[in-house]
Amino acid sequence: MQISHRLSNIKPSLTLSVNSRALELKAQGVSVTSLAVGEPDFPTPPHVCAAAKAAIDANFCHYTAVPGIPELRKAAGDYFGRTYGVPVPRESIIIGAGGKHCLYNFIQTTINPGDEVLLPAPYWLSYPDMIMLAEGVPVPVAAGPEQGFKVTPAMLEAHRTPKTRLLILNSPSNPTGAVYTEAEFTAIMDWALGQDIFVLSDEIYDQLVFPPAVMTSAIGWFAEYPRQVAVLNGLSKSYAMTGWRVGFLAAHPDLIKKISSMQGHSTSNICSIAQKAGLAALTGPMDGVREMRQAFQRRRDLAMHIIADWPFAVCPRPDGAFYLFVDVRKCFGRLAANSTEVCTRLLDKAHVAVVPGAAFGDDNCIRFSYAVADDVLAKALDRIGAELAVLA
Ligand code: PLP
Repeated sequence: MQISHRLSNIKPSLTLSVNSRALELKAQGVSVTSLAVGEPDFPTPPHVCAAAKAAIDANFCHYTAVPGIPELRKAAGDYFGRTYGVPVPRESIIIGAGGKHCLYNFIQTTINPGDEVLLPAPYWLSYPDMIMLAEGVPVPVAAGPEQGFKVTPAMLEAHRTPKTRLLILNSPSNPTGAVYTEAEFTAIMDWALGQDIFVLSDEIYDQLVFPPAVMTSAIGWFAEYPRQVAVLNGLSKSYAMTGWRVGFLAAHPDLIKKISSMQGHSTSNICSIAQKAGLAALTGPMDGVREMRQAFQRRRDLAMHIIADWPFAVCPRPDGAFYLFVDVRKCFGRLAANSTEVCTRLLDKAHVAVVPGAAFGDDNCIRFSYAVADDVLAKALDRIGAELAVLA
């Protein structure tokens, strides 16, 4: 059977291999705590679920327009106006099956074979594979914990070539939780736009920024540079709606039309019922979002407090999302040589699942998600700390 050459470099996700080992242990009766998840541990708000039920009862169950029902596109555009003071017209929005789908379609629509894409590293693990599926070339630009996992224009410039087409920014970041300040973000935007590089800003965690840190959105540059800036967002993380698959992308209407043509030949519209749920989320109360943000901030503080006592780990305080990216280089040596071996050891000995940094382009670190109850988090971190101490 022939497999297309486009898939030759695509690897199965490292997250999945940790998960399958965790499942094996569970099957043996071991109680495993997972800090590997990338989704909020909160329920979808009830008014959102009610809107979906009402959509079914009204038999809103047929095809819709490919880029989404007009009212949902408008609500997504209004979100930028309400949140950042930059209203985006409906024609500049496409609704996809989660942020991942929007991003995939955007990359397929804009990247030609051989085009280079600057990827600040650590990066979200799907970016490189999505770029390679478009036959583009991911160009990681590594930033370590000593600089808060954040890149600078000078670092990006050092990786720019005549083939550089796109820069993908992700603040708050998965896996590091790093949030660029307005000054840092502005410096990068000025540099990229000045070099004629398109910026895709993945802002899926924008509602999960912990004060006093402040979110800076690339939408602020969209009015002036509509052909060079696109912003990705969605409901998975901020509204605890990972399973509903609702994401949206803001970009120039000409680009949106092209993405829509592509989407029309693959998935067509996203689920009609999920669209009604998404509309309720984007037009309804934000209390659930606020409560989640407060809970994540409390857990971030709890986790940082515990990790502060670990002499063998370095972790800059993250200002957003729900991840800690911990440098465990000091634990490499006798029993484990890299992030994957540390994670395997943590799973086997401490019975906690976490994700190797290698998956995110940084083999010195491991990623903990704190999207679990406070007491579960505290106990799991204690077990991790004890095992890392054995390795160090
Ligand atoms: N971007 C980042 C940085 C993410 O972490 C994720 C999910 O983990 C996504 C995009 C995609 O989220 P979804 O497809 O659920 O909207």
